Amino acid sequence: HNKHSVAGRFAPSPTGALHLGSLVAAVGSYGAAKRSGGLWLLRMEDLDTPRVVKGMADDILRTLEALGFAWDGEIMWQSRRTEAYQAALDRLLAAGDAYPCGCSRAEIARVASAPHTGDGEVPYPNLCRHGLAAGKDARSYRVKVGAEPITVHDLVMGEQRYDLARICGDFVVKRADGLFAYQLAVVVDDAEQGVTQVVRGSDLLSSSPRQVHLQRLLGYETPVYAHLPLVTAPGGGKLSKRDNAVSLAAGRNLAADGGLLLLAALRFLGQHPPVSLEGASGREILAWTADYFDLSLVPTRSAPLVLPF
Ligand code: GLU
Repeated sequence: HNKHSVAGRFAPSPTGALHLGSLVAAVGSYGAAKRSGGLWLLRMEDLDTPRVVKGMADDILRTLEALGFAWDGEIMWQSRRTEAYQAALDRLLAAGDAYPCGCSRAEIARVASAPHTGDGEVPYPNLCRHGLAAGKDARSYRVKVGAEPITVHDLVMGEQRYDLARICGDFVVKRADGLFAYQLAVVVDDAEQGVTQVVRGSDLLSSSPRQVHLQRLLGYETPVYAHLPLVTAPGGGKLSKRDNAVSLAAGRNLAADGGLLLLAALRFLGQHPPVSLEGASGREILAWTADYFDLSLVPTRSAPLVLPF
């Protein structure tokens, strides 16, 4: 990747078909990477095997192609990366930055009655930090968090400060079911792919300090972050499955509607594609996006995405 100083990525989870939120993330990450002459990499986040839906990875790829997207290099498949995740965990364990945990969710909820912030999550009270309690077996593995808050500079959402000790405590990097946690996988994969720019939905904004923390422990560079506004239903609530669907699997005629979907996503992201692009193909609209996408125009507030049909 040496010739390109910027590498962005799109990292869909094949737990369902491509939806409006992922379309926005695809357009935003593509625009930001290509506008800076960078690579746009693709990673299929099929790590959480119980939640993966058969056929969806393929449908996502065919949907992206039908919209006119072309990615750089080989697709990275998380389901094939177990050894890399284990190697990262082994490094954390060897450095004393991670430890086995024998606590069940019910036990944690019982002990952690202290008031907490965060997304409804109970911060882990670090019970196993200094060793498994007698008679307990390792269920999961956790990484230690520090007392210092972590600041993330987000190109869209501005500076964010997080106190991981209060939000989540020592957090899981390998789950009790033996699967590696999203937080660890993303950090290891972004480093392996040479990602310098992470553009994604702001549902993941509060994941970024966890990822920055892991990057520091593992000696990786921290990419630039830009979290995009979330797509809501017209009334402001959650989108219905039907209104949210953009994929081929959902019966969308992307040959006819693909360009309009891309234009709607660009407008949602505060961009001003010219009227001359009405009726243009997805590829033409994405060529414009590569030339003119401007991250500084992206709004911060969640909003409905108005489809023109
Ligand atoms: N796979 C995640 C999702 O589809 C995105 C992960 C990321 O962009 O870091 O929500």
